[in-house]
Amino acid sequence: MRARSVWPARLALALLLLVLCSASLMLARLLENDQHKRLEEHVGYQARTLARQLENNLSIEVESLERIARLWNNLGRLQQAAWEHEANMALQGFPAYQSIQWVGADLRMRWLLPLAGNEAAQNFRLSAEHPNYPLAMQARNTGEQRFSNSFQLVQGGRGFVLYTPLFLKDAQGQRQFDGFLQGVFRVEPLMTQLLDSLDSDEFSVQLLENDHPLYSRQAPGSLPQMPQRVALQLLNNRTFSLQLIPTQALLQRLNSPLPQVVLGASLAISLLLVAALALALENARRAEALQVSNRLLKIEATRREAVERRLRDSRERLQLVLDLTDSCQDSLFIFDTASRELLHMNQATYASLGYRAEHFAQLLRNDPEQLLPGFHAWLQQARSAQQDNQPRIFQREMRRRDGSSQAAEINTQLVQLHEREYLIAVSRDNRERLALEARLQRLSQLDGLTGLYNRRFFDQQLQAEWRRLRRIGAPMTLLMIDIDHFKAYNDALGHLAGDDVLRKVATVLQECLQREGDVACRYGGEEFSIILTSTGLDGGEHVAARVHELIANLAIPHPGSPQQYLTLSIGLAVAQPANEEHPGSLIARSDQALYQAKHGGRNQTRIWSAAQASGYSPSESPGA
Ligand code: GH3
Ligand code: MG
Ligand code: MG
Repeated sequence: MRARSVWPARLALALLLLVLCSASLMLARLLENDQHKRLEEHVGYQARTLARQLENNLSIEVESLERIARLWNNLGRLQQAAWEHEANMALQGFPAYQSIQWVGADLRMRWLLPLAGNEAAQNFRLSAEHPNYPLAMQARNTGEQRFSNSFQLVQGGRGFVLYTPLFLKDAQGQRQFDGFLQGVFRVEPLMTQLLDSLDSDEFSVQLLENDHPLYSRQAPGSLPQMPQRVALQLLNNRTFSLQLIPTQALLQRLNSPLPQVVLGASLAISLLLVAALALALENARRAEALQVSNRLLKIEATRREAVERRLRDSRERLQLVLDLTDSCQDSLFIFDTASRELLHMNQATYASLGYRAEHFAQLLRNDPEQLLPGFHAWLQQARSAQQDNQPRIFQREMRRRDGSSQAAEINTQLVQLHEREYLIAVSRDNRERLALEARLQRLSQLDGLTGLYNRRFFDQQLQAEWRRLRRIGAPMTLLMIDIDHFKAYNDALGHLAGDDVLRKVATVLQECLQREGDVACRYGGEEFSIILTSTGLDGGEHVAARVHELIANLAIPHPGSPQQYLTLSIGLAVAQPANEEHPGSLIARSDQALYQAKHGGRNQTRIWSAAQASGYSPSESPGA
């Protein structure tokens, strides 16, 4: 399962951080702008207040001069003393006055207060060249007060004049111009008086006339980029304006650290928020990864459970099989052929031989020949049989604990496993079967009636002994025996009696055998043969004589025989197997000798000889 990429989420977080930082900056900027605006408003307010104050100050003076003018106009030209009284009152109330003057209708200076400092103006006459002349004429013509622009005072310095026209009534009641009541103001004291109330640290102030500075009061740390200008309306005159420039000090007083605090706080909050989100994202990612690994773990656990269950099942099955092998009579053992360490053996393996399990295992490991004589050769045989695809069942002898041998039929199977060779052996105690086989084998060789060997065995034995004697160069003697007149016996006494006789003859023949290797057989109906190994003529004759003797001793009555008792005839031949290839001629010779015994009168032994054979006159060896 592929983990989802974290990059889109990280990009989103980075974007969010960017947005939040931008918003923080914008907020701080807004607050700063707001502060700036408030500063501007404050400065503007101050400027307006100052302007209104200046306008008020002057309008008071305008009114006070107008009052004097009204007195003048209504009551007629004032006495100088009265005028001076009024003028002094005005002067005292307003220090910005340079002077208060009356200029007559001819525009010449008449009265002037105060004298001190205005001496230069005593002889002043408003000529047509004077910059204020048109304005003054306006005032005269309209009868309204007029406020002049600034101009160079004859007393020095710059000032303004408030022209208040004076009139007298003539006899016809007509208004006659009677000059101007002039209030002359100096710029500097006017502004100084005005600015007394203003904190000089917070503003620089300029009085502008047609945008040109007429008066300046500079405060340290002015901020020229933030000027606030307010137009002044001094009666008719609108050329003046007042400009306030805030200083750093004001800025500091009005500025609050709020924008910076807000900026810092919001940046910090943004960072914290994004960090928290990143943390949450990371946690979610880890949780997801954990979930994935949990799922995998669960699958693995289920798989393991299944494997364990299968293992348990197969272990149980294996145990069952092993238990079954224990109840089995056959031995089953599996061992490593190199180390001879046992992988498994069932109970029969060791118990049937009388060992305990450990003892058996130890013997197999340390001395396998002791347990299974010819062990190593057997192992080699098993290997080559398996390689050649030959039967792998071996008849071996196992050694029991008590030292005795036990026949074992061992079925082997070699298995290569993990680069080791294991031998699986199933061994069976087959003594009984071997005995049975031996018995069957024996039975197949015996004659049922007499218990002597049968004709088949005779043939085999003759061949085998012939070969053996041929090797060792020893002689063989063959006796062919036939009961005389046996047909007659049967006829006289019945077949059962005949059978009985056959058994008795067989017993006699058996008794006559003295040496191991000598064999008596029932050759056919009532014919017998005796093979005498390593026996020559003497031995043969001796045996034949003994046969006749024992038969005679039995004295079996035979009604059909001229002797009245049972007799038999024997043909004897001796051969040197070393000289002849096959025993066939020996049989033939002994047959011929028997024939001769019969023809010679029966109840006798005839020995085959070459001379006789040619003339059919066998030598006679009479019976008992
Ligand atoms: P001889 O040999 O002396 O010339 O006379 P014989 O009567 O024995 O003649 P022959 O050998 O031809 O007779 C064989 C008889 O043996 C025939 C048969 O009745 C008898 N005989 C053969 N086998 C058996 C047998 O198993 N049981 C019995 N009771 N009789 C047998
Ligand atoms: Mg016969
Ligand atoms: Mg016979």
